[in-house]
Amino acid sequence: MSDKVIGIDIGGTNLRGALVDSEGNIHKRMKILSQADQGIDKLIDNLANFIADISKGEKVTNIGVGIPGIIDSKNGIITQAPNIMNVDNYPLRSVLKEKLGPDLNIVIENDANSAAVGEWWMGASKDVNSMIMLTMGTGVGGGIVLDGNLWTGADGMAGELGHMTIYPDGARCNCGNYGCLESYASATAIRRMVKEGLQDGNLNTVLRETTENVHIEDIPRIVMEAASSGEEFSLKIWKEVGVALGIAIASLVNLLNIEMVVIGGGVSNAWDLFIDTTYKEAHKRAFRAPMERAKIERGLLRDDAGILGSAYLALHSSSWKGF
Ligand SMILES: [Zn+2]
Repeated sequence: MSDKVIGIDIGGTNLRGALVDSEGNIHKRMKILSQADQGIDKLIDNLANFIADISKGEKVTNIGVGIPGIIDSKNGIITQAPNIMNVDNYPLRSVLKEKLGPDLNIVIENDANSAAVGEWWMGASKDVNSMIMLTMGTGVGGGIVLDGNLWTGADGMAGELGHMTIYPDGARCNCGNYGCLESYASATAIRRMVKEGLQDGNLNTVLRETTENVHIEDIPRIVMEAASSGEEFSLKIWKEVGVALGIAIASLVNLLNIEMVVIGGGVSNAWDLFIDTTYKEAHKRAFRAPMERAKIERGLLRDDAGILGSAYLALHSSSWKGF
């Protein structure tokens, strides 16, 4: 086996990956369009070509792939992935092995789980044993590392922290439940809050013009800029984000007594606008001692968190024995 593995992070737009050694050094990095919206066959073609390209000249046997969705990581199956068409119960690992070679070791993991492992291995949580990570993007992803191991649950589906209920009668979430963390602390949530606010014709806000016909991924930045210039409505939105995060973190700290909570993802760029509220809310609700111990930190690795986490899992997966 080469001492390098491939770590891959598949997103709705991009497919990113790198050759990574056992020390976590990145040797070669590549990025292509994932075209996940065109269906699983296109995505598999892109993934196979990507792996062939990035491993040129190296004999790589271990590959880690982070993918958004509910993943049965033990069996290498995509159970459900709302952003990819026709993909329910899709045997990703066996399809890839058929395409690329039966001797490859391929580990598949939920993208937010991979990101948590990445931050734990090489990022903000480098020196801690137990942590959780919340990734605030279009939705809210979560990952749990306990005593140096990713907690994957009975079927590899654990860590869906974005779907903890925060408000029982709250806004409807994409998952079908009401009042999930994701409905209050993601780009989707911020878009909803803006939309609901604008229904009040008397509300005087710059967002009425600046958020019109804008892509969902750009909305948090626009609301962040408005809030930074002191706009009241936008400041209120970030406060609501901060409270929901604080409620979630209090429960997680009471439950797990972790050393650190890492917050990442594009929406976390507005850190200064919500973190004080989050901190206060979490400390108000959680038990004093575990909350005082739990640090709340920003992710350090940005886009590399998922790549490095997938690489770590490719280096250390216990499932190699299974097939
Ligand atoms: Zn939900």
